[in-house]
Amino acid sequence: MTKLRANQNHKHDCFESATKQTQKGDLMNNFICPDCKNEVRLNAKKLVCTGCNRVFNWDTSVIEMLPKKLEKNYEDIAWKTLPYEGIKKPAWMALLHKKDRIMYFYERILPKVNFNGKVLEVGAGTCWVSALIKKKHQNSLVVASDVSPYALEKGQKISSILESTVDYTIACDVKSLPFSDEYFDVVLSNATIHHFPDPQRGVCEMYRVLKKGGKCYALGEVAAGIPFKTILTSQIGFAGKRAKSLEIEEKIYSLTQWKRFFETSGFSEITVEFDKTWKHKLYNLFVALYYVGLSYIPNILIGNFLPCNIDFYATKTNSFALPYLDKIQQYRTPKEVNNS
Ligand SMILES: [Zn+2]
Repeated sequence: MTKLRANQNHKHDCFESATKQTQKGDLMNNFICPDCKNEVRLNAKKLVCTGCNRVFNWDTSVIEMLPKKLEKNYEDIAWKTLPYEGIKKPAWMALLHKKDRIMYFYERILPKVNFNGKVLEVGAGTCWVSALIKKKHQNSLVVASDVSPYALEKGQKISSILESTVDYTIACDVKSLPFSDEYFDVVLSNATIHHFPDPQRGVCEMYRVLKKGGKCYALGEVAAGIPFKTILTSQIGFAGKRAKSLEIEEKIYSLTQWKRFFETSGFSEITVEFDKTWKHKLYNLFVALYYVGLSYIPNILIGNFLPCNIDFYATKTNSFALPYLDKIQQYRTPKEVNNS
Protein backbone atom coordinates (compact mmCIF):
# COMPACT_ATOMS: atom_id res chain seq x y z
CA MET A 1 0.00 0.00 0.00
CA THR A 2 2.75 2.41 1.03
CA LYS A 3 4.58 1.61 -2.17
CA LEU A 4 1.47 2.32 -4.24
CA ARG A 5 0.92 5.65 -2.52
CA ALA A 6 4.56 6.59 -3.00
CA ASN A 7 4.17 5.78 -6.68
CA GLN A 8 1.06 7.95 -6.98
CA ASN A 9 2.86 10.82 -5.26
CA HIS A 10 5.70 10.35 -7.68
CA LYS A 11 3.28 10.58 -10.62
CA HIS A 12 1.78 13.71 -9.11
CA ASP A 13 5.24 15.25 -8.70
CA CYS A 14 6.05 14.38 -12.29
CA PHE A 15 2.86 16.10 -13.42
CA GLU A 16 3.72 19.19 -11.39
CA SER A 17 7.28 19.32 -12.66
CA ALA A 18 6.17 18.66 -16.25
CA THR A 19 3.73 21.57 -15.94
CA LYS A 20 6.59 23.80 -14.83
CA GLN A 21 8.70 22.55 -17.69
CA THR A 22 6.12 23.70 -20.25
CA GLN A 23 7.25 27.22 -19.39
CA LYS A 24 10.59 26.34 -20.96
CA GLY A 25 9.15 24.85 -24.11
CA ASP A 26 5.72 24.55 -25.64
CA LEU A 27 6.05 20.87 -26.45
CA MET A 28 2.59 20.13 -25.02
CA ASN A 29 1.08 22.24 -27.84
CA ASN A 30 3.14 20.49 -30.49
CA PHE A 31 2.17 16.86 -30.19
CA ILE A 32 0.47 15.06 -33.06
CA CYS A 33 -1.29 11.72 -32.92
CA PRO A 34 0.92 8.80 -34.05
CA ASP A 35 -2.17 7.06 -35.47
CA CYS A 36 -4.16 9.75 -37.32
CA LYS A 37 -1.60 12.64 -37.39
CA ASN A 38 -4.11 15.14 -36.02
CA GLU A 39 -3.18 17.62 -33.32
CA VAL A 40 -3.11 16.43 -29.73
CA ARG A 41 -4.31 18.93 -27.16
CA LEU A 42 -3.84 19.19 -23.44
CA ASN A 43 -7.38 19.13 -22.08
CA ALA A 44 -8.18 18.95 -18.36
CA LYS A 45 -4.84 17.35 -17.54
CA LYS A 46 -5.25 14.85 -20.39
CA LEU A 47 -3.56 14.71 -23.75
CA VAL A 48 -6.34 14.03 -26.25
CA CYS A 49 -6.18 13.58 -30.02
CA THR A 50 -8.45 16.06 -31.81
CA GLY A 51 -8.96 13.52 -34.62
CA CYS A 52 -9.49 10.03 -33.19
CA ASN A 53 -9.99 11.08 -29.53
CA ARG A 54 -7.26 8.77 -28.32
CA VAL A 55 -6.13 9.73 -24.83
CA PHE A 56 -2.42 9.61 -24.01
CA ASN A 57 -1.15 9.10 -20.48
CA TRP A 58 1.27 11.82 -19.67
CA ASP A 59 1.18 12.17 -15.88
CA THR A 60 3.68 9.34 -15.76
CA SER A 61 7.44 9.53 -15.91
CA VAL A 62 7.40 8.27 -19.52
CA ILE A 63 4.78 9.73 -21.89
CA GLU A 64 3.51 6.86 -24.04
CA MET A 65 2.73 7.84 -27.64
CA LEU A 66 3.37 4.58 -29.43
CA PRO A 67 1.21 3.87 -32.49
CA LYS A 68 -1.65 1.44 -31.89
CA LYS A 69 -0.60 -0.66 -34.86
CA LEU A 70 2.81 -1.49 -33.37
CA GLU A 71 1.96 -5.14 -32.84
CA LYS A 72 4.95 -6.54 -31.03
CA ASN A 73 7.55 -4.25 -29.52
CA TYR A 74 10.66 -6.32 -30.26
CA GLU A 75 13.01 -3.57 -29.11
CA ASP A 76 11.29 -3.32 -25.74
CA ILE A 77 11.51 -7.09 -25.29
CA ALA A 78 15.18 -7.05 -26.29
CA TRP A 79 16.05 -4.23 -23.86
CA LYS A 80 14.55 -6.19 -20.97
CA THR A 81 16.76 -9.18 -21.68
CA LEU A 82 20.09 -7.45 -22.36
CA PRO A 83 22.89 -8.89 -20.21
CA TYR A 84 24.02 -5.56 -18.75
CA GLU A 85 20.92 -3.44 -19.15
CA GLY A 86 18.02 -5.81 -18.64
CA ILE A 87 15.52 -6.10 -15.82
CA LYS A 88 17.11 -6.52 -12.36
CA LYS A 89 20.45 -5.14 -13.55
CA PRO A 90 21.48 -1.96 -11.70
CA ALA A 91 21.66 1.30 -13.65
CA TRP A 92 25.39 1.71 -12.96
CA MET A 93 26.10 -1.58 -14.73
CA ALA A 94 24.48 -0.28 -17.92
CA LEU A 95 26.63 2.83 -17.69
CA LEU A 96 29.80 0.87 -17.11
CA HIS A 97 29.02 -1.36 -20.07
CA LYS A 98 28.73 1.69 -22.35
CA LYS A 99 31.76 3.55 -20.97
CA ASP A 100 33.67 3.65 -24.27
CA ARG A 101 30.70 5.10 -26.14
CA ILE A 102 30.00 7.52 -23.31
CA MET A 103 33.61 8.76 -23.21
CA TYR A 104 33.63 9.16 -27.00
CA PHE A 105 30.50 11.29 -26.86
CA TYR A 106 31.72 13.26 -23.83
CA GLU A 107 35.21 13.95 -25.14
CA ARG A 108 34.71 14.17 -28.90
CA ILE A 109 31.13 15.24 -29.63
CA LEU A 110 29.79 17.27 -26.71
CA PRO A 111 32.53 19.95 -26.70
CA LYS A 112 32.29 20.72 -30.43
CA VAL A 113 28.64 20.24 -31.40
CA ASN A 114 25.87 22.79 -30.92
CA PHE A 115 22.99 21.39 -28.86
CA ASN A 116 21.21 24.67 -28.18
CA GLY A 117 17.45 25.13 -28.45
CA LYS A 118 14.89 22.37 -28.74
CA VAL A 119 16.70 19.06 -28.97
CA LEU A 120 15.18 15.66 -29.79
CA GLU A 121 17.05 12.40 -29.46
CA VAL A 122 15.49 9.48 -31.33
CA GLY A 123 16.28 5.94 -30.24
CA ALA A 124 17.61 7.37 -26.99
CA GLY A 125 17.51 3.99 -25.24
CA THR A 126 18.75 4.54 -21.71
CA CYS A 127 19.00 8.30 -22.34
CA TRP A 128 22.63 8.90 -21.34
CA VAL A 129 23.29 11.04 -24.44
CA SER A 130 20.29 13.26 -23.71
CA ALA A 131 21.25 13.41 -20.04
CA LEU A 132 24.77 14.63 -20.88
CA ILE A 133 23.37 17.20 -23.34
CA LYS A 134 20.93 18.53 -20.73
CA LYS A 135 23.69 18.68 -18.13
CA LYS A 136 25.81 20.89 -20.39
CA HIS A 137 22.97 22.88 -21.98
CA GLN A 138 20.65 23.69 -19.08
CA ASN A 139 18.61 26.14 -21.17
CA SER A 140 17.92 23.70 -23.98
CA LEU A 141 14.69 21.71 -24.06
CA VAL A 142 15.91 18.11 -24.23
CA VAL A 143 13.47 15.38 -25.27
CA ALA A 144 14.60 11.74 -25.18
CA SER A 145 12.47 9.34 -27.24
CA ASP A 146 12.62 5.62 -27.86
CA VAL A 147 10.30 2.81 -28.91
CA SER A 148 11.07 1.02 -25.63
CA PRO A 149 9.27 2.41 -22.54
CA TYR A 150 11.41 0.08 -20.43
CA ALA A 151 14.69 1.60 -21.70
CA LEU A 152 13.39 5.12 -21.06
CA GLU A 153 12.42 4.29 -17.49
CA LYS A 154 15.84 2.81 -16.90
CA GLY A 155 17.25 5.94 -18.53
CA GLN A 156 15.77 8.09 -15.80
CA LYS A 157 17.82 6.21 -13.20
CA ILE A 158 20.91 6.47 -15.42
CA SER A 159 20.34 10.22 -15.87
CA SER A 160 20.26 10.70 -12.12
CA ILE A 161 23.61 8.90 -11.77
CA LEU A 162 24.91 11.41 -14.34
CA GLU A 163 23.35 14.16 -12.17
CA SER A 164 21.00 15.23 -14.91
CA THR A 165 17.29 15.11 -15.78
CA VAL A 166 16.04 15.31 -19.34
CA ASP A 167 12.92 17.45 -19.81
CA TYR A 168 10.71 14.77 -21.37
CA THR A 169 11.00 11.07 -22.06
CA ILE A 170 8.58 9.92 -24.74
CA ALA A 171 7.90 6.38 -25.93
CA CYS A 172 7.19 6.60 -29.66
CA ASP A 173 7.97 4.99 -32.99
CA VAL A 174 10.40 6.83 -35.26
CA LYS A 175 8.23 5.88 -38.27
CA SER A 176 5.54 8.23 -36.94
CA LEU A 177 7.05 10.71 -34.53
CA PRO A 178 4.33 12.38 -32.42
CA PHE A 179 5.66 15.93 -32.96
CA SER A 180 4.52 18.79 -35.23
CA ASP A 181 6.46 19.63 -38.38
CA GLU A 182 9.49 21.85 -37.93
CA TYR A 183 9.48 21.99 -34.14
CA PHE A 184 13.04 21.07 -33.16
CA ASP A 185 16.35 22.88 -33.67
CA VAL A 186 18.39 19.70 -33.36
CA VAL A 187 17.47 16.06 -33.97
CA LEU A 188 20.09 13.47 -33.14
CA SER A 189 20.56 9.76 -32.91
CA ASN A 190 23.36 7.73 -31.42
CA ALA A 191 24.01 4.21 -32.74
CA THR A 192 20.31 3.96 -33.55
CA ILE A 193 19.43 4.25 -37.24
CA HIS A 194 20.90 0.84 -38.09
CA HIS A 195 18.20 -0.64 -35.81
CA PHE A 196 15.35 0.97 -37.79
CA PRO A 197 13.34 -1.54 -39.84
CA ASP A 198 12.91 1.26 -42.41
CA PRO A 199 15.83 3.72 -42.05
CA GLN A 200 14.73 5.94 -44.96
CA ARG A 201 11.38 6.55 -43.38
CA GLY A 202 12.99 7.20 -40.00
CA VAL A 203 15.40 9.77 -41.45
CA CYS A 204 12.46 11.43 -43.32
CA GLU A 205 10.66 11.78 -39.99
CA MET A 206 13.78 13.28 -38.39
CA TYR A 207 13.79 15.76 -41.28
CA ARG A 208 10.09 16.56 -40.91
CA VAL A 209 10.28 17.53 -37.22
CA LEU A 210 13.33 19.76 -37.78
CA LYS A 211 13.02 23.50 -38.30
CA LYS A 212 14.41 25.06 -41.45
CA GLY A 213 18.07 25.59 -40.65
CA GLY A 214 17.94 22.81 -38.06
CA LYS A 215 20.74 20.33 -37.56
CA CYS A 216 20.67 16.57 -37.72
CA TYR A 217 23.43 14.53 -36.10
CA ALA A 218 23.47 10.80 -36.73
CA LEU A 219 26.26 9.54 -34.55
CA GLY A 220 27.89 6.21 -33.85
CA GLU A 221 26.86 4.27 -36.95
CA VAL A 222 28.96 1.73 -38.86
CA ALA A 223 29.65 1.91 -42.60
CA ALA A 224 31.18 -0.98 -44.56
CA GLY A 225 31.37 -2.24 -48.13
CA ILE A 226 29.61 -5.36 -49.38
CA PRO A 227 32.24 -8.00 -48.44
CA PHE A 228 32.54 -6.88 -44.82
CA LYS A 229 28.90 -6.08 -44.26
CA THR A 230 27.99 -9.51 -45.61
CA ILE A 231 30.34 -11.18 -43.11
CA LEU A 232 29.34 -8.98 -40.16
CA THR A 233 25.61 -9.49 -40.68
CA SER A 234 25.92 -13.23 -41.43
CA GLN A 235 25.30 -15.90 -38.82
CA ILE A 236 28.98 -15.85 -37.81
CA GLY A 237 29.26 -12.06 -37.65
CA PHE A 238 28.70 -9.91 -34.57
CA ALA A 239 25.72 -8.05 -36.01
CA GLY A 240 24.13 -11.20 -37.42
CA LYS A 241 24.38 -13.08 -34.13
CA ARG A 242 22.93 -10.17 -32.19
CA ALA A 243 20.04 -9.69 -34.61
CA LYS A 244 19.15 -13.36 -34.39
CA SER A 245 19.38 -13.74 -30.62
CA LEU A 246 17.48 -10.53 -29.80
CA GLU A 247 15.06 -10.57 -32.78
CA ILE A 248 15.95 -6.97 -33.63
CA GLU A 249 17.28 -5.17 -36.70
CA GLU A 250 21.08 -4.99 -36.74
CA LYS A 251 21.94 -3.66 -40.20
CA ILE A 252 25.14 -2.38 -41.75
CA TYR A 253 25.10 0.00 -44.71
CA SER A 254 27.84 1.30 -46.99
CA LEU A 255 28.87 4.94 -46.85
CA THR A 256 27.08 5.54 -50.16
CA GLN A 257 23.84 4.06 -48.80
CA TRP A 258 24.13 6.15 -45.65
CA LYS A 259 24.55 9.36 -47.65
CA ARG A 260 21.56 8.44 -49.78
CA PHE A 261 19.28 8.19 -46.70
CA PHE A 262 20.05 11.81 -45.88
CA GLU A 263 19.99 13.14 -49.45
CA THR A 264 16.67 11.46 -50.22
CA SER A 265 15.11 12.92 -47.08
CA GLY A 266 16.02 16.42 -48.29
CA PHE A 267 19.07 17.18 -46.16
CA SER A 268 21.98 19.20 -47.48
CA GLU A 269 25.43 20.14 -46.21
CA ILE A 270 25.91 16.47 -45.40
CA THR A 271 29.30 15.70 -43.94
CA VAL A 272 30.71 12.49 -42.59
CA GLU A 273 33.44 12.03 -40.03
CA PHE A 274 35.28 8.77 -39.60
CA ASP A 275 35.84 7.79 -36.01
CA LYS A 276 39.22 6.14 -36.48
CA THR A 277 40.32 6.35 -32.85
CA TRP A 278 41.22 3.15 -31.00
CA LYS A 279 40.96 4.80 -27.60
CA HIS A 280 37.20 4.35 -27.29
CA LYS A 281 37.18 0.77 -28.55
CA LEU A 282 38.84 -0.90 -25.59
CA TYR A 283 35.69 -2.94 -24.86
CA ASN A 284 37.17 -5.43 -27.33
CA LEU A 285 40.93 -5.76 -27.84
CA PHE A 286 40.54 -7.06 -31.38
CA VAL A 287 38.41 -4.06 -32.35
CA ALA A 288 40.90 -1.65 -30.70
CA LEU A 289 43.79 -3.21 -32.66
CA TYR A 290 41.77 -2.99 -35.89
CA TYR A 291 41.27 0.73 -35.33
CA VAL A 292 45.01 1.22 -34.66
CA GLY A 293 45.59 -0.22 -38.15
CA LEU A 294 42.69 1.80 -39.62
CA SER A 295 44.24 5.09 -38.52
CA TYR A 296 47.01 4.51 -41.15
CA ILE A 297 44.60 3.80 -44.00
CA PRO A 298 43.35 6.56 -46.35
CA ASN A 299 39.66 7.45 -46.12
CA ILE A 300 39.01 6.45 -49.73
CA LEU A 301 39.24 2.80 -48.62
CA ILE A 302 36.97 3.28 -45.63
CA GLY A 303 33.19 3.15 -45.41
CA ASN A 304 32.57 1.68 -48.87
CA PHE A 305 35.08 -1.09 -48.25
CA LEU A 306 36.65 -1.35 -44.79
CA PRO A 307 34.25 -1.02 -41.85
CA CYS A 308 34.46 2.07 -39.67
CA ASN A 309 32.42 3.96 -37.10
CA ILE A 310 31.01 7.13 -38.63
CA ASP A 311 29.22 10.29 -37.53
CA PHE A 312 26.93 12.23 -39.89
CA TYR A 313 26.18 15.93 -39.77
CA ALA A 314 23.43 17.36 -41.97
CA THR A 315 21.36 20.53 -42.24
CA LYS A 316 17.77 21.12 -43.29
CA THR A 317 18.33 24.09 -45.55
CA ASN A 318 14.96 24.00 -47.27
CA SER A 319 11.57 23.94 -45.67
CA PHE A 320 9.49 20.83 -45.64
CA ALA A 321 7.86 20.41 -49.05
CA LEU A 322 5.55 18.07 -50.96
CA PRO A 323 8.22 15.84 -52.55
CA TYR A 324 8.93 14.62 -49.03
CA LEU A 325 5.52 12.96 -48.88
CA ASP A 326 6.15 11.17 -52.18
CA LYS A 327 9.41 9.88 -50.78
CA ILE A 328 7.70 8.58 -47.67
CA GLN A 329 5.20 6.69 -49.88
CA GLN A 330 7.99 5.40 -52.07
CA TYR A 331 9.91 4.04 -49.10
CA ARG A 332 6.97 2.48 -47.32
CA THR A 333 7.36 -1.25 -47.25
CA PRO A 334 4.70 -3.11 -49.29
CA LYS A 335 3.33 -4.74 -46.12
CA GLU A 336 2.63 -1.39 -44.50
CA VAL A 337 0.96 -0.01 -47.62
CA ASN A 338 -1.42 -2.99 -47.55
CA ASN A 339 -2.19 -2.43 -43.88
CA SER A 340 -2.93 1.26 -44.17
ZN1 LIG B 1 -5.56 10.40 -33.47
